[in-house]
Amino acid sequence: MAILEEPIKGVLELKNYIDGKWIASKGEFHDILNPATCKVIAKVPSSTREEVNEAVASAKKAFPEWRRTPPLARCRCLFRLKELLEENFEELSRIQTMEHGKTIDESRGETRRGIENVEVATGIPSLMMGENLEDIATGIDEYLIRQPLGVFSCIAPFNFPFMVPLWFAPYAVATGNCIIIKPSPRDPISQVKLCELAEEAGFPPGVWNVVHGGKEVAEALMEHPDVKGVCFVGSTPVAKKVYKKCGETGKRVIAQGGAKNFIVIMPDANLEKTIPALMTSFYGNTGQRCLSGANALVVGDDKFYKKFVQGFVEAASRIRIGYGLDESVQMGPMQSKEGKKRVLGFIERGIKEGAKLVLDGRKPDITGNYPSDCFLGPTVFEDVTCDMEIAKEEIFGPVACIMRAKSLDEAISMIHTSRYGNAACIFTSSGKIAREFQYRVECGNIGINIGIAAPMAFFPFSGMKESFFGILHGQGKEAIRFFTESKVVIQRWW
Ligand code: NAD
Repeated sequence: MAILEEPIKGVLELKNYIDGKWIASKGEFHDILNPATCKVIAKVPSSTREEVNEAVASAKKAFPEWRRTPPLARCRCLFRLKELLEENFEELSRIQTMEHGKTIDESRGETRRGIENVEVATGIPSLMMGENLEDIATGIDEYLIRQPLGVFSCIAPFNFPFMVPLWFAPYAVATGNCIIIKPSPRDPISQVKLCELAEEAGFPPGVWNVVHGGKEVAEALMEHPDVKGVCFVGSTPVAKKVYKKCGETGKRVIAQGGAKNFIVIMPDANLEKTIPALMTSFYGNTGQRCLSGANALVVGDDKFYKKFVQGFVEAASRIRIGYGLDESVQMGPMQSKEGKKRVLGFIERGIKEGAKLVLDGRKPDITGNYPSDCFLGPTVFEDVTCDMEIAKEEIFGPVACIMRAKSLDEAISMIHTSRYGNAACIFTSSGKIAREFQYRVECGNIGINIGIAAPMAFFPFSGMKESFFGILHGQGKEAIRFFTESKVVIQRWW
């Protein structure tokens, strides 16, 4: 199949967007590679602390007028942004494939999920309404209003470079705050395109900002006294640090961390439907998804188990690997060579730990003539037990660990050995079992006959244990509470 036209020609030099202007950074630049072709497609700066300070100052300056802008007028910018996102849908999606490696269909899905958050945030005028009770004492009324805080920042991971900032930014600006987005330094290009559209949509200077960089820029944002809140999504060790730091500096924080998700397959599951769903769950986004299936936990007798493993391995070995801009490709490369190296390390460890490698993806067949640097094929381990590192740690690649349990009870106990609590899914045709599962399992996102338990924008993206640090979530109705503070007014008229 032909390769779709690449929207990025040559090598882009990425700029920061501060106070409504695109400004070249004085920091050092590094190369962004297309992981499928290994060609340099952009250079991204590590911005300086002064540049971070400028972004915060511009957001702080924009805040008083923006918060006074009526909510409906603020939403008109979001409506325009939504239209522009639709008009640029395909280009945005192809950019994600070029910077991340995911297939074009996965990128289109990501673009769609991102847009949905913009759509939901346009409901802010109703969502943000306060509460009122008259006659709390005779002749005295009391009401609660919600007010924006000021400057928020968003620190984003590499695996959903376009969507994750849209989990927060639309709600932040709709409620009257200003936002500074720090994209992942590994794939920041779609955030630049998104910001160009935000500029075109008419957000006033300083309301929507982008500052590039890594850890140092994130730290500068977290340390800045004028940043009132931080929305972080990334790995658990960093999420813990962010949560701690924001506690010390008294900032609002959402810190979403890593995951190791179990998928339970009950003996009454319809395997013809379950196995295709599991392919997307385990191998979609090349396994680099916090909601990916990681451990497949099979309940049932030997016959059912064998049938499952055979079907799973056959389906996984049929997955077509290549450049995501080829529409026939079903799995793209890992986002980086380093990511691939990390996964190779886990495969070695799994073999040493005694797990049985039943499908080895280390030397994949690649459709088309591309360097193999970032490519990995679907990999399957059998005989995995809860004490093995490959069962406990987030591999973040296309590796499935198949495990066995005697009963639902044992399956739930095995899930609870994990320190993560992001997602868990069950495939069954029993409503009773499904209810028992969703009732007892300590995970924030539950899938029932769904392999990727991704909440829609109007529901909060949840998470428990070491997958989520914070109290409030950043989407839907909860976003209103996170991005505003409540003020209570008691009023008496003489
Ligand atoms: P990461 O933790 O390496 O980086 C995330 C962001 O933090 C980046 O912008 C990075 O520049 C910044 N950063 C790095 N060190 C920092 C520090 N010391 N202080 C502050 N910021 C720092 O994560 P990643 O590799 O980009 O993303 C993959 C991880 O994200 C996986 O663990 C995945 O499960 C997780 N993730 C979780 C969710 C969720 O909703 N829970 C969603 C997507 C990804």
